[in-house]
Amino acid sequence: MRARTQDSNVVTIEHPLVAAKLAILRSKATLPEDFRRALQEISVLLLAEAARTWETVPYQIETPLRGCTVSNLKRPVVFVPILRAGLGMLDGMTTLLPDAAIGHIGVYRDEKTLRPATYFCRLPATIAEAQVVLLDPMLATGNSACQAATLLKENGASMIQFICVVACATGVEQLNSQHPDIGIVTAAIDPELNELGYIVPGLGDAGDRYFGTA
Ligand code: URA
Repeated sequence: MRARTQDSNVVTIEHPLVAAKLAILRSKATLPEDFRRALQEISVLLLAEAARTWETVPYQIETPLRGCTVSNLKRPVVFVPILRAGLGMLDGMTTLLPDAAIGHIGVYRDEKTLRPATYFCRLPATIAEAQVVLLDPMLATGNSACQAATLLKENGASMIQFICVVACATGVEQLNSQHPDIGIVTAAIDPELNELGYIVPGLGDAGDRYFGTA
């Protein structure tokens, strides 16, 4: 997989399969079942790129022919979808790493303070030593991602990556400025955020399209 690093913290994946899945996700003609499948499939590809930097430990096995040094991941992995749309990426993630633990974070925008507020947070006990992967298909304003990242750190997480499908400059800048240690992996960075907080051209409301609630 060929990845292009746009700046120190953001990797935008350039890969024909990622582009093909993204095309399905972006099209308004895509049916919910096809949207679901494409979101799961692109998540597998995004995770493969995110994991490129993870540390491994070598160990010895016997093949049918002779001894051989192989390797496995050094740290446990925790996936943390941001509710609700992040759930749409989970099946793809656990296809590659079925033994990963899963946490959940729910964030909403408080209409009085206009600040992100947490309504749910349940994280596995392994979070402090784990490679933590925060999931949300869209990095729009960056407010939910920043709030979720702060919660992860308050609960002891220190190795965190953020995987999304579509980001925009506002969200990237916000997450970079508040959490410069968190690497972002995305399939695209779109030019605009409209007045309703949607990424343009984007793919619409990822949660509504995944759950068929549009
Ligand atoms: N959330 C979405 O689902 N879509 C956007 O474009 C922005 C935030």
